[in-house]
Amino acid sequence: MVDGLLDRLGVPASAYTNGNHPIHTPIDGSVIASVHLESKAQVVGKIDQAEKAFQAWRNVPAPRRGELIRLFGEVLREHKAQLGELVSVEAGKITQEGLGEVQEMIDICDFAVGLSRQLYGLTIASERPGHHMRETWHPLGVVGVISAFNFPVAVWAWNTALALVCGNAVVWKPSEKTPLTALACQALFEKALKAFGDAPEGLSQLIVGDREAGQVLVDDPRVPLVSATGSTRMGREVGPRVAARFGRSILELGGNNAMILAPSADLDLAVRGILFSAVGTAGQRCTTLRRLIVHRSIKDEVIARVKAAYGKVRIGDPRKDNLIGPLIDKQSFQAMQDSLARARDEGGIVFGGERQLQQDYPNAYYVAPAIVEMPAQTEVVRHETFAPILYVLAYDEFEEALRLNNEVPQGLSSCIFTTDLREAERFQSAAGSDCGIANVNIGTSGAEIGGAFGGEKETGGGRESGSDSWKAYMRRQTNTVNYSRELPLAQGIVFD
Ligand code: NAD
Repeated sequence: MVDGLLDRLGVPASAYTNGNHPIHTPIDGSVIASVHLESKAQVVGKIDQAEKAFQAWRNVPAPRRGELIRLFGEVLREHKAQLGELVSVEAGKITQEGLGEVQEMIDICDFAVGLSRQLYGLTIASERPGHHMRETWHPLGVVGVISAFNFPVAVWAWNTALALVCGNAVVWKPSEKTPLTALACQALFEKALKAFGDAPEGLSQLIVGDREAGQVLVDDPRVPLVSATGSTRMGREVGPRVAARFGRSILELGGNNAMILAPSADLDLAVRGILFSAVGTAGQRCTTLRRLIVHRSIKDEVIARVKAAYGKVRIGDPRKDNLIGPLIDKQSFQAMQDSLARARDEGGIVFGGERQLQQDYPNAYYVAPAIVEMPAQTEVVRHETFAPILYVLAYDEFEEALRLNNEVPQGLSSCIFTTDLREAERFQSAAGSDCGIANVNIGTSGAEIGGAFGGEKETGGGRESGSDSWKAYMRRQTNTVNYSRELPLAQGIVFD
C-alpha cells in the first residue's frame, strides 16, 4: 500500500522493511511496513551530530538560514499530494485533512522565511549617559521535538521551520505509530538540504523509536529545549524531567474543548461548526469539540439538528469520498467504548458511538460519532477521550456556561456562538474563557498557523507556530554598551 508512495517521496526500502516494529494502517489494520527502532546509543549519536551541526549553523546569517526553509517549502509543494496520501494511509485522516496538514507545513515555511529577516530585539533607553542598551536573540542549541500520531507531519514542521531559522539544530522523535510519514519528511528535507548546498551535516535528525528513545532526548543536557506534543500523561512525565536539569519545554498536551451555544446564535453556522469540530479527524484532534454547552431553550432543536447532520456523514476509507475515517487502533476504540459506558453510568443518554463496517474491516476500527446528553459535568466529561464523543450540557445563565467552560483540568480551545456582542466580548475577556484559544462564531478546531498555538492548565502552557512563538526557540541576551569616557553606575551608586 505504501511502497510506491515512499519510493516517490525518496525513502529507501531498507528504512521500512525487515524491521523489528510493524506499522499498521488504521484503514484496514494490515501491516504496511516494519521499521527498525533505534537504540539508546544511536539516539545519543544523533544528538552528538546535531550538537556539532549547531556549532556551525548558529553562525550562518538568519536570512540565509531562511533560504533553506524556503527551499523546503518548495519541495513540500512539489510533493504535497504524495505526502498527504501517506498521512491518510498511516494516520487514517481523510484526503482533505491529509492535504491540509501538508499545507500547514508549507504555510509555516513561508512564515519562517519572513521571520528569518525579523528576529527583532529591542533597544532600551539607558539611565546612564553615554550608554546604550539592547536586547538580542541568540540560538539555543539542539531542539528536541517529540510528536503525537494525530498530527504526524505538521507539528514537526511548526517546530522545525522556526527552530532552524532561529539557528538551532533539531532532533525529532515522532510517534511510534507514524514513523513512515516521518521518514518521508526527513527524505524531503534532505532534498532541500541538497539544493541549499552547504548546511552542516546532521542539522535535522530523525529518531525512529518509542518512548524510551524520547526519554533519551528528554534527559540529555545538550538539548536545552524539548517541544513535546501528546497526552497529558506524557507531559506529566516529560515536563518535570526536563525541568529537573533546568531545560526548557514547550508542552502541547490534551484538550477538552467546549462550545457555548447561546440563544441568539446563527444555528446554521453553529451546526456546521459543531459537525467539523466534533467529528473531523474522527474526533482525534487535540482541538476536537468535546463539550457542547447549549442554552436550555434551544437544546432540543440543536440536538435534533446535530443528530440529523451526524446521520448523513459518510464513514469509511479516508482516501475515498468520506468525512470520517478510522480510529487509530483497537485501544482507541476500547477507550471510546469505556467512556460511553461510564457516561451511561453517570446518567448520560448516548446516541451513536457504535462500531461501523466491521464486516469489511475486521481489523480496523470505524465508529459512528457519539452524542451524549449529560445531566451535569461529571467525571467522564472532565476527561479527554481521544475519539468522537460530544457531551451535551444545558445552561440557563451565561455565567453558568462560562463556569462550565472553565471547570475542566484542560485549557486548550474554546468557542462561543452568539450574536450578542456583550457575550462575545465577555467570553474573550480576562474573566472569560481560560483557554489558550477562544473563538467567536468559529469552532474549536482548525487553527491557522499565524497565531500562537497552545493551551493552559493541563494542556501544558506551551505556545508554538505563529505570532512571537519563535522567542521560545532562542535565548535572550541583554547588552549594555558604554561609549562614554566615564563609568557611571546604575541606580546612582557611588563606589569610590
Ligand atoms: P502520546 O502521549 O501517547 O504520545 C506522544 C508522543 O510522546 C509519542 O511520540 C510518544 O512516543 C512520546 N512519549 C510518550 N511518553 C513519553 C515519555 N515518557 N518520554 C518521552 N516521550 C514520550 O500521545 P498520542 O496518543 O500520540 O497523541 C494523542 C494525544 O496528543 C492527545 O491527548 C492529544 O490531545 C494530544 N495532542 C495535543 C496537541 C496540542 O497541540 N496540544 C496536538 C496533537 C495531539
